[in-house]
Amino acid sequence: TGVFFRPVEKIAAVLETYPKGIAGFRRYCEFIDTAPDILDAPSAVAITRMAGAISFRGVGFSYGGGRKVLDGVDLDIAPGETVAFVGPSGAGKTTICSLVPRFYDATAGAVLIDGLDVREATQASLRRRIGVVSQDVFLFAGTIRDNIAYGRLGASEADIALAVERAHLTATIAALPAGLDTVVGERGVKLSGGQKQRLSIARMFLKDPAVLILDEATSALDTETERAIQASLAELAAGRTTLIIAHRLSTIRHADRIVVVADGRIVEEGGHEALMRRGGAYRRLVAAQTAGAGDETQTAAE
Ligand code: ATP
Repeated sequence: TGVFFRPVEKIAAVLETYPKGIAGFRRYCEFIDTAPDILDAPSAVAITRMAGAISFRGVGFSYGGGRKVLDGVDLDIAPGETVAFVGPSGAGKTTICSLVPRFYDATAGAVLIDGLDVREATQASLRRRIGVVSQDVFLFAGTIRDNIAYGRLGASEADIALAVERAHLTATIAALPAGLDTVVGERGVKLSGGQKQRLSIARMFLKDPAVLILDEATSALDTETERAIQASLAELAAGRTTLIIAHRLSTIRHADRIVVVADGRIVEEGGHEALMRRGGAYRRLVAAQTAGAGDETQTAAE
């Protein structure tokens, strides 16, 4: 978690929402300071069509030349597949996912999309086709309509209405003083965490990316909101390659594949049932989380 926070205006929000308090906040500051400036290669090509096949080939990574955070990650994800990454806190789940939109470059090996090394694609074309839904939603001061249309500039009124509906936001927006014209942000209406998340889902329906990265919320919302959000996320994921950074194992049972990450490596992968039968790291994670029911803390697999 944390990699998807974008720059400085977010510091206050991070202090509020960062799941790991001061240590996490420091880590976030380090991220701002040390994030390399990723540049387009002179020969970079614009991706015009993305099917959404993703391959990690011997991927290694370290932040700013420090210790290895990822080591020898090999993974092939088919277009349209939903893959959930699970594992102890700090295992490298977020880092793996952040290499796909190229927030960072692998320090060993390569990440390919539809067979193209992401370093050979223009960043604009790459990120246009990759959507990130994170627990930390960026809202700017403006109307709800503008904040949703941000998903696809120039979206029609009908497109926006459809996105709102698919994100299960219609009733919420109708209840606001000026509907879609309600101003949010510092001087506007304050939205709840769940509402903000649904707004970002509506945005994503408009953006219509081939690849979706879901950075799952660490803290649970109330059950009903949670269920509504899970339902719209499932709709959003349909037909797209979806990578889920999972914190709560209960929400990812139906993923096509679960990848268990420990200490920067993939230690197990498979479906929920198969991994449970196998009785390895995944099963221990599930047991640990069940034992601490209601508690969202990650527990070491080993
Ligand atoms: P969590 O479940 O807590 O979100 P994670 O599995 O997503 O954890 P990552 O966030 O990928 O793990 O972190 C992997 C390792 O890299 C951790 O040791 C973490 O401290 C370190 N790390 C993450 N981001 C940075 C950064 N910007 N600078 C330096 N180290 C970092």
